[in-house]
Amino acid sequence: MISFLLLLLLPVGRALEETLMDSKWTTSELSWTAHPETGWEEVSGYDEATNPIRTYQVCNVQEMNQNNWLRTRFIDRQGALRAYVELKFTVRDCNSIPNIPGSCKETFILFYYESDTDSASASSPFWMENPYVKVDTIAPDESFSKLESGRINTKVRSFGPLSKRGFYLAFQDLGACMSIISVRVFYKKCSDTIAGFAMFPETLTGAEPTSVVIAPGTCIPNAVEEHVPLKLYCNGDGEWMVPVGACTCAAGYKPAMKDTECQACGPGTFKSKQGKGLCSPCPPNSRTSGTAAVLCSCQSGFFRADADSADDRCTGVPSSPRLLISNVNETSVALRWSEPRDLGGREDLFYNVICKKCLLEHRLCSRCDDKVDFFPLQLGLTERRIYITNLMPHTRYTFEIQALNGVSSKSPFPPQFASVNITTNQAAPSAVPTMHLHSSTTNSLTLSWAPPERPNGIILDYEIKYFVKQGQTEGIANTITSQKNMVRLEGLRPITLYVVQVRARTVAGYGSYSLPVEFQTPLEDVSRKSSFQEQLPLIVGSATAGLVFIIAFVLIAVVCFRKQRNGSESEYTEKLQQYIIPGVKVYVDPFTYEDPNEAMREFTKEIDISCVKIEEVIGAGEFGEVCRGRLKLPGRREIFVAIKTLKAGYTDRQRRDFLSEASIMGQFEHPNIIHLEGVVTKSWPVMIVTEYMENGALDSFLRLNDGQFTVIQLVGMLRGIAAGMKYLAEMNYVHRDLAARNILVNSNLVCKVSDFGLSRFLENDPSDPTYTSSLGGKIPIRWTAPEAITYRKFTSASDVWSYGIVMWEVMSYGERPYWDMSNQDVINAVEQDYRLPPPMDCPTALHQLMLDCWVRDRNLRPKFAQTVNTLDKLIRNAASLKVISNLQSGISQPLLDRTVPDYTTFTTVGDWLDAIKMGRYKENFLNAGFASFDLVVQMTAEDLLRIGVTLAGHQKKIVSSIQDMRLQMNQTLPVQV
Ligand code: AMP
Repeated sequence: MISFLLLLLLPVGRALEETLMDSKWTTSELSWTAHPETGWEEVSGYDEATNPIRTYQVCNVQEMNQNNWLRTRFIDRQGALRAYVELKFTVRDCNSIPNIPGSCKETFILFYYESDTDSASASSPFWMENPYVKVDTIAPDESFSKLESGRINTKVRSFGPLSKRGFYLAFQDLGACMSIISVRVFYKKCSDTIAGFAMFPETLTGAEPTSVVIAPGTCIPNAVEEHVPLKLYCNGDGEWMVPVGACTCAAGYKPAMKDTECQACGPGTFKSKQGKGLCSPCPPNSRTSGTAAVLCSCQSGFFRADADSADDRCTGVPSSPRLLISNVNETSVALRWSEPRDLGGREDLFYNVICKKCLLEHRLCSRCDDKVDFFPLQLGLTERRIYITNLMPHTRYTFEIQALNGVSSKSPFPPQFASVNITTNQAAPSAVPTMHLHSSTTNSLTLSWAPPERPNGIILDYEIKYFVKQGQTEGIANTITSQKNMVRLEGLRPITLYVVQVRARTVAGYGSYSLPVEFQTPLEDVSRKSSFQEQLPLIVGSATAGLVFIIAFVLIAVVCFRKQRNGSESEYTEKLQQYIIPGVKVYVDPFTYEDPNEAMREFTKEIDISCVKIEEVIGAGEFGEVCRGRLKLPGRREIFVAIKTLKAGYTDRQRRDFLSEASIMGQFEHPNIIHLEGVVTKSWPVMIVTEYMENGALDSFLRLNDGQFTVIQLVGMLRGIAAGMKYLAEMNYVHRDLAARNILVNSNLVCKVSDFGLSRFLENDPSDPTYTSSLGGKIPIRWTAPEAITYRKFTSASDVWSYGIVMWEVMSYGERPYWDMSNQDVINAVEQDYRLPPPMDCPTALHQLMLDCWVRDRNLRPKFAQTVNTLDKLIRNAASLKVISNLQSGISQPLLDRTVPDYTTFTTVGDWLDAIKMGRYKENFLNAGFASFDLVVQMTAEDLLRIGVTLAGHQKKIVSSIQDMRLQMNQTLPVQV
């Protein structure tokens, strides 16, 4: 290897001479052939360095007609095409020789004779030009006058092309006095060489001095040919000329040793491409595991995108987007966010938006369907904003904004994201489709219409706009509202054309007006014509009067019956039931039946188990698990249902108690009362199947969506609960356990009263602290009216008290009534006329309504029917809900000032946030540097938004607490909201 390398080290262009014969090699006798024998004579002598040598001399200058030949031995040409002869000789100056004839010469002639064999003899070939070939007449540069001090001439001559195995040289003397001191015969060749990272073999020169010989090259180890054909030219002087084509070092190898070697890249360096380039240090975040690396592999957590080159640094995935802000508008939401803090070292950042629809307090989330629209794009967003429309109303959504870049697909981990939970509002109702003329008089029109196809909630009322049509112009419009989908426009002019439009209103506001329809008042009243249509209201009127009478009778009968039952535990007889007129129902206690199964048969429907499919456990009930599932009854479409099960090992009494709830529920039919689909009693497990309420129990639903609803939405919920309770009260049913935990919420934010089980009032479960044992059963103290606690006086009026507590729970987003006070403290405080203070931002009118519900004298409490009206009025007159004062006057003083204690009682900002229930923002505050109260007190609403407090309710809560803090610090700067 070393010798090979040394060979390679020879520089390009250096000629090599290969000697075929050198007279100096012979120190004994040359024994060349001379003719005639009197001519050339072999003589021993010394060269310039006084080395002994053999020479030939001739000096027959005294004689005329000299023709002396001297022939060398056979010289093998060894493949050379051209031979070179280096002659060293001396010649005597003819003038310096006295008395010589004029034939004295100072030159000699050089010949060669080619032969394939060493076959020359003393007589053959003939001693003459042709067969010998003349090379040249050689003349000295300098002749000399005295033989002993003769100057040595050196002459080089060449001849070719040679084609036979070898040749002889011949020297012809024609009368000179000279000596041949040495003869060296050689040829020229281009040496082995390396040029352009290729090896070229030793190459003999061509036959002529001007010829060039092409030598093919081969790439050196670890080099690769760049251009073909790769070749080098050897010129007549044995010198290499400029190469054609080249090799270069392969990837992973660099040029070294003056471009004669390709050396492996060392550890920590790499060379990605073949070429002249050197090895480069590994780009950031990458490394090599050995030598000759063509690529540095990325360190853990860093990647290269497909389009990245090996020279590019390894990059990471971006961190999550920051400061995600949502802005919900009915069923649309606009999201904005800030760039991730860490872009992973890349610039090809983009975002994907994942939409998840969540049911049941966030436990059950699924990808949104493709009805949802994303503007401008859902995936591959480069802007930091998106507008999402077509969401379902009153539905909880989670949006994840994933930050991705060119290497996200390489990472084994899912992209980092920021998420926001939002709850959509209600969409306004759709337009009323058509309007019909019901009847008309000369000055009135009675119109009716079908409700909007998509009410998107409960329709509070309709607004009817009408005006006189005067040719092409329109008269001044009047508006009138109607609670029903029918109106009588009065005070109209006879035979006049009126244009009428109608629109529906829900808590979300007004829908669009219906298309204008024209109606004309008649010339004269047709009512006198006594058509059946016109008589209808009369008939309805009389029927109603009759009905009122019958109801009154039945009510009296039932009251009598109940009194009798309470007194003597007498049975609820069939006799009394006959007074229950279809359409005017009164609640019947299933425990009044001797056989509760009979009540079951009467009020519930048996469902075949094959129609029920249980899908998921969603809660724990009194008697067993509560599941979500599907119900497919023959001839009806499949629906989601909630399934309450009775756990194994139940006693008969438990079975009866469990099913009693169904017997109660089955008697109710109202949009704000949970609807019973039926029971499964003929197979195991026993089940109660009800409509499914996507958002679960109201208390936890509110806690989860703290601060996310408008006051109108909250009042809409309260209105629903009041309407349900009004219905129950009208049915003579006393709930006894009205509380937010017993209200269920569906996906349209409709609240329904549930939990009609009686068992928890019994003494059999000591574990639930909500219900306190008292004489004759258990009582949820915080929700229960004083008279019910004290002497078990449960009435619809005590339900009204509980309703007031539910109002407080709703307005405080699920806060625990009386917080952590003990039950006994609650009883004492209420007894001393202390009442719960208004929750934060609670409209005064609502707190007043709560206080009304908590009036000591139960007869002075509002009835549920009144409460529904009051709430409807508040909804209609939204301005009345804007009045908010945190302190109330009058007999009901605030129970406790539960606003946050003096901030100095907290050691850290985190503790303070915990205390105001905003602990979830601890990190946001700390990360943004708001770590001390001095800094917090200077925060603006924009600061809050910037650090990620995006929900309006939460902003308000924090801002108001900061304001308290300022007051405590004697600062008066207002927070700009
Ligand atoms: P209950 O035994 O009625 O108190 O129900 C226990 C829990 O099951 C409730 O707090 C709800 O979270 C859930 N649940 C009960 N009924 C339904 C329903 N109809 N739809 C959805 N969830 C329900």
